[in-house]
Amino acid sequence: MIYQRHTGRALCRECFIEDIVRRVKQEIERHEMFRERDRVLLALSGGKDSYTLLDVMLRIHDPSRLGIVTIIEGIPGYNREGDIEWVIRRAREHGIDIVVTSYKEEVGYSMEELVNLTIEKGVRVTPCTFCGFLRRRIINKYAREGGYDRVATAHNLDDEAHTALMNLLRGDYARLAQMHPKAPVLSKLFVKKVKPLRKIYEWESAAYAWLTGYGFQETECPYLRLRPSFRARVRAYMYELEREVPGSMLKFLEAIDRLAEPLARSVSRLPELPRCEVCGEPTSYNRRVCAFCDLMARIGAEEYFRRLGTKTPATRT
Ligand code: SF4
Repeated sequence: MIYQRHTGRALCRECFIEDIVRRVKQEIERHEMFRERDRVLLALSGGKDSYTLLDVMLRIHDPSRLGIVTIIEGIPGYNREGDIEWVIRRAREHGIDIVVTSYKEEVGYSMEELVNLTIEKGVRVTPCTFCGFLRRRIINKYAREGGYDRVATAHNLDDEAHTALMNLLRGDYARLAQMHPKAPVLSKLFVKKVKPLRKIYEWESAAYAWLTGYGFQETECPYLRLRPSFRARVRAYMYELEREVPGSMLKFLEAIDRLAEPLARSVSRLPELPRCEVCGEPTSYNRRVCAFCDLMARIGAEEYFRRLGTKTPATRT
């Protein structure tokens, strides 16, 4: 039996699996994340949440309308070979197109090399910042080039609730609006991102993965400890609250969804984002060079600019 603290119910294996699939489907329909005929690119890291996302999607969507992209960061001690193998095997079993790529292939540097450059140049930026930029950029590139209608990521309820509280505490309403499932994309170069597991607790996603056949020991990224401490503190606080008041994270995210929906709709009145003068990708309204190219210039990532066929631009700082 699996005890769901937030509902007070004890469920057998079959009912638990059924419950997760039903709730994911409900969330997809509630926010019209995608339609039956849509082609959806799944961005999978190979961990348990990825396993759950793929398994649920195979139950509710036509496999011939799915694709997979998986990215190798190039972090010492974190090669996730076993994880990536199961993604490839599962994709083949169901005839799903899969792309396995790496930071090195895409921008000329592995994560380890990027971190070394930041140390050499004395630039204060965490490895997770690079991951944030690079993953979004690479996933979007493959979705756009492959003609997909949506990108689905495996973010769970814990990820979403923590990010929402961080945005709220910072007073960053623009980000709060943008993370709403109904927020429109601000550039025709972006493929809309959806998060089907956003109302599934992390422990539920892990339990689902184990109950449906995930058999790997997850390795932890060695750079995790360098994550900004604000996120770590928000996580600790929300987990403490969840222990005392089961269901509080879910209630919080539901409330944020309701409050941020009008904000998300107002985003659609904004004009198309400008393009970065260096890489051609969308950038913020007040920038000529995107934050990623600016960062790559600050760390002296010449190979990246050589591949783009441009000179290293002057940095803003
Ligand atoms: Fe990337 Fe940070 Fe995650 Fe490591 S912990 S994989 S550096 S986002």
